[in-house]
Amino acid sequence: LKVTIAQIDIPCSFGPAYEGERVRGKDLFVQAGGGKTQCTEYLELADMKEIDDGKVTVIGPDIPDMKRGEVFPLGIFVQVGGREFQKDFEPILERQTHHLVNYIQGVMHAGQRDIAWVRISDAAVDKGFTLKDLGVVLHAKLHQDFSAILDKIQVTIYTKKEDVDKLTAKARAAYKYRDERVDKMTDDDVETFYSCTLCQSFAPNHVCTVSPERTGLCGAYNWMDCKAAYQINPTGPNQPIEKGECLDPKLGQWKGVNEFVSKASRGAVTHYNFYSLVQDPMTTCGCCEAIAAMLPGCNGVMTVHREYTGETPCGMKFTTLAGVMGGGASSPGFVGHSKYNITQRKFLVGDGGLLRMVWMPKSLKEEIRERLLKRGAEMGCPDLIDRIADETVGVTEEEIMPFLKEKKHPALDMEPIVG
Ligand code: SF4
Ligand code: ZN
Repeated sequence: LKVTIAQIDIPCSFGPAYEGERVRGKDLFVQAGGGKTQCTEYLELADMKEIDDGKVTVIGPDIPDMKRGEVFPLGIFVQVGGREFQKDFEPILERQTHHLVNYIQGVMHAGQRDIAWVRISDAAVDKGFTLKDLGVVLHAKLHQDFSAILDKIQVTIYTKKEDVDKLTAKARAAYKYRDERVDKMTDDDVETFYSCTLCQSFAPNHVCTVSPERTGLCGAYNWMDCKAAYQINPTGPNQPIEKGECLDPKLGQWKGVNEFVSKASRGAVTHYNFYSLVQDPMTTCGCCEAIAAMLPGCNGVMTVHREYTGETPCGMKFTTLAGVMGGGASSPGFVGHSKYNITQRKFLVGDGGLLRMVWMPKSLKEEIRERLLKRGAEMGCPDLIDRIADETVGVTEEEIMPFLKEKKHPALDMEPIVG
């Protein structure tokens, strides 16, 4: 028996019309995440017997228990069951959280995975919105949109720090597993890449092309995920792209991709390179986990992730970069990318690859330490991580240059980054 839900029982209006709506500071009642508290979303396949379909539980304080201006930790844990449901489908359904939560009038959602951000407006709270409604929406819409693969959905919302931290640890283990599924694949291995146009409601010309060695810039979709998404929904936002003739192996440009992107961006973007930020990089939307930028004075590049709020050597903080770059344009000198992509083999190889990396925030280095060490060694520079400057060294090109010289950073011996 399939459950069909015609109406969504929440006190706020709901629909795609509200997707692009922002919740500005003056209208903000409370928020979660956004670098201030932990905000994690995780969806997993569970045993059918363990799921009570439609059950939504809020563990911890809900909106009526909160004071205006509060920033609370949030964990959204969705368990699904279905005879047709494959484990590979988890990331696709999890990623729906983004637009579904945005469909609620007066509620805003940004980010994904363990760096989500939810802002709830005064207007939504006045109408009676509570966190339970997040679960009501997810239950109803996932049933509606994925009825072919889903039979049961149960949602648990956590707002106590210890519970959110526990969920986050569990989710991170799952993200790692998902990311590593493409680890052994190469772009040369496959003839087909996948598009992702899920973000066009925010960035109308933006088209991610996801290849095995370039995961989506949000970090939530890799090649395997897009392949599974296409399998679930053959007319959806993830379409196969025959890559076709290779126009530039070094920068990573294919005829088939260009044709697809031209069409999908309605002519706004005619071509882009997978492996370069200097020359015609891929388009960037506001979801990117990190943004890399050229540092001509250091003959290298830097990258900064969403969680780092300080200054950077390119002269802009992450939020400013995301504001300038996130509209779906291709901006030479800058490119959005996932954190995982930094250590994928093709990362910026058109510009010299990871060996060009001269600066990144300390917390990002630590987060990807293991993989950075491994990738550095593969590239003949096992201590690359110690040669990359961070904010403790400096936040301008002038400040970090003496450090790069002292450490004999490999970028300094490379050909000029701008020709
Ligand atoms: Fe898809 Fe790219 Fe948006 Fe991620 S950032 S959801 S891969 S369009
Ligand atoms: Zn996006």
